[in-house]
Order: sequence, then structure tokens, then C-alpha cells
Amino acid sequence: MPRPLLATIHTAALANNLAVARRYAPKSKIWAIVKANAYGHGLARAFPGLRATDGFGLLDLEEAVKLRELGWAGPILLLEGFFRPTDIDLVDRYSLTSALHSDEQLRMLEMARLSKPVNIQLKMNSGMNRLGYTPDKFRAAWERARACQGVGQITLMTHFSDADSERGIEHQMAAFERGAHGIAGARSLANSAATLWHPKSHFDWVRPGVMLYGASPSGVHADIRSSGLQPAMTLASELIAVQTLPEGETIGYGSIFKARAGMRVGVVACGYADGYSRVAPEGTPIVVDGIRTRVVGRVSMDMITVDLTPCPQAGIGSRVELWGNALPIDDVAQACGTIGYELMCAVAMRVPVRAE
Ligand SMILES: *Cc1c(COP(=O)(O)O)cnc(C)c1O
Repeated sequence: MPRPLLATIHTAALANNLAVARRYAPKSKIWAIVKANAYGHGLARAFPGLRATDGFGLLDLEEAVKLRELGWAGPILLLEGFFRPTDIDLVDRYSLTSALHSDEQLRMLEMARLSKPVNIQLKMNSGMNRLGYTPDKFRAAWERARACQGVGQITLMTHFSDADSERGIEHQMAAFERGAHGIAGARSLANSAATLWHPKSHFDWVRPGVMLYGASPSGVHADIRSSGLQPAMTLASELIAVQTLPEGETIGYGSIFKARAGMRVGVVACGYADGYSRVAPEGTPIVVDGIRTRVVGRVSMDMITVDLTPCPQAGIGSRVELWGNALPIDDVAQACGTIGYELMCAVAMRVPVRAE
């Protein structure tokens, strides 16, 4: 018998979430972002649910090639572009669209031998200060790109730092408009947060990622409750043991939790080596037999211990949901001091995954 831990990928939820993105940005085309192995869902497993997209965005050339092998003939965007001149052969061979954020990349394209021009997304640094040309250098970069024989269509791109929070996007929208003023070409600005909450940033292409997987860009589940998004992954396991503890007994490494008299504690087959966060504190929500309860004691490599007080009928073999349909991943992430993105991307290789 395999360990009773399983990640289920909900194909219908992915398709639903893509449709939600379309409903929010009805006039825009969509780059469905599938970097990091489709945010931990598996590129090949996520593909069928997302194939109604207009294009896919990702980082690794290998993932781009895999998408072509899956039969995707439409646009593929490399979000960080290429890294070395040899990458450009693959960009050419697989007809990839490339972000272009630096003079070094531009020089590589100018030197490349290509079978056809490469479509690029010229990236502006409008305030994120990671990649791209600042607004005052943008026009010169655009002119140089336009003069380059190896460059085909040029889309203007930038990325928001605060579309999910207080500061918002105004300062970056203003910077973008200043730098892109008078330059023709399609625009691509919005991530999930901007797709959901800043309609005026939508323009020609939006780039939703985390919303396609049913998690909130802000990390707070309440922020997407009325959006119609559905969890694309359920991580579930079972109780493999139950302990009834006398008053004052402790649980697990470090003895950080002390039991009340007669407390029943369930042992779940899932630990940090499966991707469950080791920093999950006491009280982190978890669902046993359909009832929401809490993690107690320290998360260990292969096991978690949970309070069975609210679910007295639970025993060995009871179903445990770590996150998914019965428990938003955002709620678990929030308890761990992180965001759903990190948890879903961290699901480990050893966890069996099934798409449905
Ligand atoms: C990851 C990424 C996105 C998607 O971000 P979400 O917050 O997951 O929607 C969009 N654009 C770029 C450039 C990215 O790197």
C-alpha cells in the first residue's frame, strides 16, 4: 500500500478559473502563467484545464519545450527572456516570445542567426526595480529593438509590486505611461491582483498566475471569496494513528505542546518532506473527516499531529485535508506567515499527484 497522501489537481477548477480571469478582463488576451511547474500543479497536468488560454507564460526553456511537446502551438512567453546566446536557438526553433529587459539581451539578439524574427515583450522597470529599462531609457531601448532585424513584434510590458495591497498601481501606471508615451504596440501589465482589482491596467494582455490555481494574490482568502475562483489542488491524506493522552503529556519533537487530560491526537501522513510547512504553528487549520480542527505540536518530516477534540468520531483511516476544496490554501498559508503561492510550489516530488 502506498502512503495515503495524494495531491489531486482539479482540471475543471483550472478551466473555471481561466474563465473567471476572462470575465474580469473581457477585452484582453490572457497569458496563463505556468512557471514553476504550473505553481506546483505539474505543467502536463495543468495544461488540459488551461488550454483555452491565448498563450502561456513561464521561465524555463525546458518547460517551454515541454509545452510544445504537449501539443501547444500557440504563443509561449519567456517571462525573464533568454540567459545565454545558445538559448536563442531554442527560442527560434520553438517560436517562443521573449521578454527583453536588458541591453545584454538585445546585443545577443543582434548577434543571433535566426530563421525568423523573435517577438519580444520589452520590459519596463516602472518601480519594481528588478528587471527592465527605466522609463527614461525605455524609448531608446525600443528604438534599438525596432532597428534590430532579429526582432519581430514588440509588446510593452511591466510588472506591479503592489497590485494586491495598499500602495496600489498608480505610481507604476504613471511611470509606465511616461516611458511608453507615443510608442505604438500592445501592452501587458496585469498580474492576478491587477486582473482582479485594477481594470484600467488590463490593456491588450493580462498575465494571471496564482488566481488560475484558486488562491488569492493578497494571501487573504476573503479577498477572492466572491470571485468565483475554485481551488485547483486538494492535498489530502489520512490518520495513520491516534493517541489518547493523559494530562501534561507532550507531542512530538521539542515537546512544544502539552496535552489536556484525555485529549485525542491524530497522526497524519504528511510532513515537511512532502512540502507542508515546518513553521506551521499550533492552531494551523486542517480538516479531519470534514471538520475543521488544528495542528498541535511540531510538524516533522513525515507526520503532522492534530487535535481530534472537535471530531471525536475520527480514527485511523479518517480522511485529512491539508488544503483544497474544504480548506483554502490561503488560510493555511496565513497561519504559517506565508502566501498560498509558496505552499503550492513547495509540494514535494515524493507526493503522488493525480489529475481529475
Ligand atoms: C509570476 C508572474 C506573473 C503572475 O503573477 P501572479 O501574482 O501569480 O498572478 C505575471 N507576470 C510576471 C512577469 C510574473 O513573473
